[in-house]
Amino acid sequence: MMTKAFDSIGFYWQPLGGNNIDQISGHCYCYTDVVKCGRQSEKTSIIVDVGKFDNHQALGIKNSAAAVPDIRNLLESDKDRAQAVFITHSHPDHLNGIPHYLKAGYVFPPLYAGKYTFMILYDLLKEYQIPRSRWPKFNVINDGDVINIGSLEIEVLASSHTCFDSFGLIIKSKPATVYHSGDMKVDQSTCFRRPTNLKRLKERAGEIDYVVGDFYGIYSDGMAVKEVDTYRKLVSLIKKMQKPKVFIPVYPTHPEMYLIAFMAALKLKKNVIFYGNPDFFTYLKMIIEYGISFEKLAGKRIKISYAHNREDVAEMDNNYAVIGTFNDIPDVFEASHKDSFGIITASTYFNPLKGRLNSYNIRFVSVNDYPELQGYGHGFLGDWEYVNNLLSGRAVFIPTHCPVFMIDDFRQLAKCCGLKLISQTPQNNQIYKLSKKDAQLVSSFPAKWLVVLYNGDDMAYFSEVFQKPTSGTGFLKRTISRKRCQRRFKIYMAQRYRKQHEQN
Ligand SMILES: [Zn+2]
Repeated sequence: MMTKAFDSIGFYWQPLGGNNIDQISGHCYCYTDVVKCGRQSEKTSIIVDVGKFDNHQALGIKNSAAAVPDIRNLLESDKDRAQAVFITHSHPDHLNGIPHYLKAGYVFPPLYAGKYTFMILYDLLKEYQIPRSRWPKFNVINDGDVINIGSLEIEVLASSHTCFDSFGLIIKSKPATVYHSGDMKVDQSTCFRRPTNLKRLKERAGEIDYVVGDFYGIYSDGMAVKEVDTYRKLVSLIKKMQKPKVFIPVYPTHPEMYLIAFMAALKLKKNVIFYGNPDFFTYLKMIIEYGISFEKLAGKRIKISYAHNREDVAEMDNNYAVIGTFNDIPDVFEASHKDSFGIITASTYFNPLKGRLNSYNIRFVSVNDYPELQGYGHGFLGDWEYVNNLLSGRAVFIPTHCPVFMIDDFRQLAKCCGLKLISQTPQNNQIYKLSKKDAQLVSSFPAKWLVVLYNGDDMAYFSEVFQKPTSGTGFLKRTISRKRCQRRFKIYMAQRYRKQHEQN
C-alpha cells in the first residue's frame, strides 16, 4: 500500500503525526525522494521527528502507556527503510517516540540531532533501561551543517525555541526544496543559544519552494514574545515590588526560563536559590552539563544555592529569588506578605502555588496580568508574515503543529496577508508529491496511532488505533477552541483591510 505511492520519480512529503484532526502532538514527518538511476529508480527516505502523542488515553485502549506515530514500515521493510532520522529538538512531542520503538525491538537508522537533544535522549534511554548495544548511531548536528543522505541534501539551521539546540532543516531534492521549520519563532534575542538563522534563510530564499511550518501560534497576531521582553518584564516587576524574597516558578521543560529568571535576579543583585521537583533538577543538571555555569555568570556578585536547608537559606542575607518548579512554599523561607512576592510564569500549572501564596497573603502577579512573563517558543502570525517576506512571498506554506480546523479557517486571512497556502489541508498519513509547480495529493489513508502497552516482560507492544475526530478534544479545550480562533482571524483580517485602506 505504502510503497505504491512512491512508484514514480518524485519528491514526497508525508505527515505521520502533527497534522491532526484536532490534536497537535506526536510529530513525525517523512520525506522521500525517488530518482532515476540508469534503468532503475533509487529511493531515499528520511524521517523528521518521532514524537509521542500526549492524549493516548483518548484512544481508548486500557492500560496504555503512550501512543506513537506509525513508522514501522520505515524501520523494518528493506524496500521502505529510512536512511536517517533527524530530530529537530528535545521536546517529548518530537522525540519521545524513540524509546518505545526501541523497547518494541525496532532498530533505528543513524540519528541526527543537536547536542542537547542527545543529552535528553540519553537520559530517556537510560530511564527505559535500553542496553547501549541497542542505541542508534548518533550524529551531532550544528547550525550550518550540510548533510547528504542518498539523493537528498539537508542543511541545518538554528531555530529560536524554548530549548537548546533547536533546528530547522532545508531539505533539497531535484524536484523541490523545502524549509522544514520545526518549532520556531523569529526572535533574535535568545538567551545563550543561536537564534533562528534568518540570514541563511534569506540567502536561500530563491531556492525554497515550500515551508513546512510550525503554525502552532498563528492564532495570535504580531510577533511572538521575545526573550528579552520576558527578561525586562521580570526585572521591572522585581524592582517595582521592592520585596527581599521573590518566588519565580518556571516550567520544567523550558530551560530558557531558568536562565532568564536567573539573569533577572543577577541584574538586581539578588541571591538565587534553586528549588523544585525532581524534573526541574534533572533539567537544571542538564543545563550545567551542557556548559552553562551559573557560578561563572554570577562572578562574586551574588550567591547561588542548590539546596534549601536552614543553613543555606541563612547564607542568603534575606535577599533572594527562589527559581524552580514548585507548588509550595516551605517553612524554611519564612515567607510573609511583608517580605515576599510571587511571579507566576505559566497559566495553570502553578495554580496550587497561587493558592498557597493567597493563604499566606503574599502578593503575586501572573501571565494573566503580563502575558510576556511566559516564555513562548512558537511564532505568531507576525513571525510567519516575516518569514514570508524574507522568502520574497514565493514559497508555498504547508502548516504543521496545528489542528486541521485552524488551517481551514486561516485560508482567507492567509490570502489577506499574502501567504500562499497548500491548496488542500494536510492530514496525518496523507502523501503529497512536491514539485516546483505544485503539491499534489497522491495518497490518503486514514490516520492512525500505535498505542503502546507494557505487559511486565520489559517489551513494548503496539496496538493500532485509527484516529477519531475526538482524539484530542481535551487538549484543545485547554488551548484554543475553533470558535475563538475564527473570531480572532476575523478581527485580524478587519485590521489588515483597514490598514490597506489607509495606505491607499
Ligand atoms: Zn517544542
